[in-house]
Amino acid sequence: MFNKTIFGKQQFKFMLLNLLAFTVIFTIFSFIIFGQVQNTLYSHADEELKLFKEKLTDDVNVGTDMRPQPGKGNQDPPLTDQNRNNPNPRIVVIHWDEAGNMVNEGDMGSLFYDNYLSDYQLDKTKIDEITMTSIDELYHFRYLLFENPNNQDGVAYTQLLINVDAEQIIIANFVKLVTICSVIFIILSISASFLLSKKMMKPIIQSWNKQAEFVENASHELRTPLTIIQNKLELLLRAPQERIADKFENIALSLSETRRLSKLTSDLLTLARADSAETELIFNTFEFDEFVQKVCAPYQEIAESQQKHLWLNLNCLVSITADETRLHQLFVILLDNALKYTGDNDSIGVKTYIEDHRVVIEVSDTGIGIKEENMQYIFERFYREDRARSRETGGVGLGLSIAQWIVEKHRGAIKVTKNENKGTNFIIKLPK
Ligand code: ADP
Repeated sequence: MFNKTIFGKQQFKFMLLNLLAFTVIFTIFSFIIFGQVQNTLYSHADEELKLFKEKLTDDVNVGTDMRPQPGKGNQDPPLTDQNRNNPNPRIVVIHWDEAGNMVNEGDMGSLFYDNYLSDYQLDKTKIDEITMTSIDELYHFRYLLFENPNNQDGVAYTQLLINVDAEQIIIANFVKLVTICSVIFIILSISASFLLSKKMMKPIIQSWNKQAEFVENASHELRTPLTIIQNKLELLLRAPQERIADKFENIALSLSETRRLSKLTSDLLTLARADSAETELIFNTFEFDEFVQKVCAPYQEIAESQQKHLWLNLNCLVSITADETRLHQLFVILLDNALKYTGDNDSIGVKTYIEDHRVVIEVSDTGIGIKEENMQYIFERFYREDRARSRETGGVGLGLSIAQWIVEKHRGAIKVTKNENKGTNFIIKLPK
């Protein structure tokens, strides 16, 4: 229940974070695209204004006064006059005097002037800068206002206006489209964030459960020997006058449980460090078969003393780059197990060879074997096929987990198969 609330809260946090990330990305993209569309649309109109200004100033410089002659505008049809002088019919030209009065109102056409420009005022704040303006809030223009340096014929300022209503409609439609897309995007990103946060929580929940199970198993394994040692010591304490020789059994059992405890804590530490990726391997290069021979030598003696036979078949006369100490630990785990799970007259074999540029090690025995259906579990932490026997053999089910970690750290693979006739065969493949 407690875990569920924590996981639920965490999932909600992940979901909000995902949603925030999606929204920020979408907003940035929308602004970039919007800015780009607006710029592209206006840049054409702005270009026309600049070209028109250039043409106008060039014409003035070569002596063609583009300004309609005062009084003449009233006689000539205004639009025709403007068309004749105006190289771009999209552009409206307004000439202003120093006081801000329109000089060429007669050229506008009375209908156009009366309807749109009669109330239009000169705004001198934006000179030589293309700016947006609107007339009656209905008609939108880009304009370029520039000074007439010679103040020729009383014209102090010239203002060029170009209508951008079509562009405005496109932009308004684009804003509508972006708004609709945003709503769809928000709905989609809520669902995507929910699914993603659920996916993100899955490994967290799995490792939490694994960790909880690990702690539970470890506590259980630690408690058993501790209880035995405590009981034995209490027994000894109740009879202080007795001689050590009389209590030999109690002391020996306590000692064996202490050893078991010490092995268990060291295995737990190895796995805890492996989990936190704290342990780095120390690689060096060494002759492989020579190394295997050295590791197996004491086990051959132990095997002989237990009426078992340990044979070697080494065909790997190459150097290998690996962590020697960890590989030694791997062999100890496999050979210890082989000795633990074999009986009198059984044999244990260690075979090495090269296959597909990889070093292969096979540790086989003719012991009790592992049931086919249990083979998939034996690398799991604390897994033991026969829990009742484990006190006898001294195992807690951590050895093969450590073996698997060592092999994987070397980028190798480990698997277990049935030995041909009887027993178990562990096959390890390591890169050279
Ligand atoms: P343990 O310390 O109990 O041996 P391991 O992780 O080394 O723990 O092994 C897990 C289990 O796999 C053992 O409890 C045993 O049931 C089985 N097992 C491992 N090696 C052998 C083997 N050579 N023969 C038979 N069973 C084995």
